[in-house]
Amino acid sequence: MAEIKLHHVSKIFNQVRVIDSLDLVIPDGKFTVLVGPSGCGKTTLLRMIAGLGPATSGQVLMDGQDITDLDPGKRDIAMVFQNYAIYPMMTVRDNIDFGLKNRKVPKAERQRRIAEVARMTGLTELLDRRPSTLSGGQRQRIALARAMVKQPKVFLMDEPLSNLDAKLRNSMRSELIEMHKNLGTTFVYVTHDQVEAMAMADMIVLINKGKIMQKGNPRELYNDPDNTFTAQFMGTPPMNVFSCDGKIQMGFRPERAELSRTENGKAVYRRKARIITCEMLGSETVYKVETGDGIMMVKSRECEFEAGEECHLSVPDEFVLFFDGEGQRIRL
Ligand code: ATP
Repeated sequence: MAEIKLHHVSKIFNQVRVIDSLDLVIPDGKFTVLVGPSGCGKTTLLRMIAGLGPATSGQVLMDGQDITDLDPGKRDIAMVFQNYAIYPMMTVRDNIDFGLKNRKVPKAERQRRIAEVARMTGLTELLDRRPSTLSGGQRQRIALARAMVKQPKVFLMDEPLSNLDAKLRNSMRSELIEMHKNLGTTFVYVTHDQVEAMAMADMIVLINKGKIMQKGNPRELYNDPDNTFTAQFMGTPPMNVFSCDGKIQMGFRPERAELSRTENGKAVYRRKARIITCEMLGSETVYKVETGDGIMMVKSRECEFEAGEECHLSVPDEFVLFFDGEGQRIRL
């Protein structure tokens, strides 16, 4: 068991409240992703859990035990950073071995565990190489192996893939998901990338300005946002949100709108539209269109319109969402 509970935690840096009385339960064995814009407080939260930057007030609990003031080394937690923090002069094997040696784990046990994590991270053939002779993805795996070999109850990861190119990031992403499945350990993963969050998370915690905007599984945040912040942070292009009646705002996802040459009389929301640009992305096309309600984005499998053309935009009723003047969802 390794459930982490943050209870009324706040963090103040130079009189600025960066985390504001936040409550969160990070479930045991799940892949939890903390996501949000730059500076929202994700790393600050992760450091609190690790014990690297204490909360100004509030408590951190692990399996019900108060660890707020516990030494980082005694927390049974391993952390993987974006800049790997590996030793360039040591071999891959010695890098992985480093923490175990420090903890005076017997040699035979160390060898067994190194072989096991090397197999899991695909490093077996590379154990005698130095990190400077390896690729970014291989180095990232060393950092992961070093964390795994400690057999911690919790893995904390702070943007571990952000230094990798797009292709490698995608393949490491699925490797991490698989690794989590195999280990069944609690993962807490920080990213500012909502695509990464949706792809990896069992539970997403979306943070803005030190507060939780919404938490839930990726589908909940995407299809059933509690507020306009969530609606527009998750998904690219973001949800179209516009004023429709005084303080009431309306929203729909770009892929839920339909463009047609003839008017769709069945949809309650329908507008004339003029295509401004179309971006062909392969399997789909993103249109920027102008309507009486403003500029909207539409994502379509079809690519039948060109810039300058006039058409009709409609959204099936079940995909239209409403928000109040403060951006909170109005559930009908
Ligand atoms: P990013 O995605 O850019 O890494 P983040 O969500 O992880 O951002 P944090 O690093 O947690 O954000 O920072 C949250 C806020 O706290 C920021 O406004 C940052 O400037 C401030 N902050 C973080 N560390 C310190 C510090 N040591 N001293 C002063 N302010 C800090």
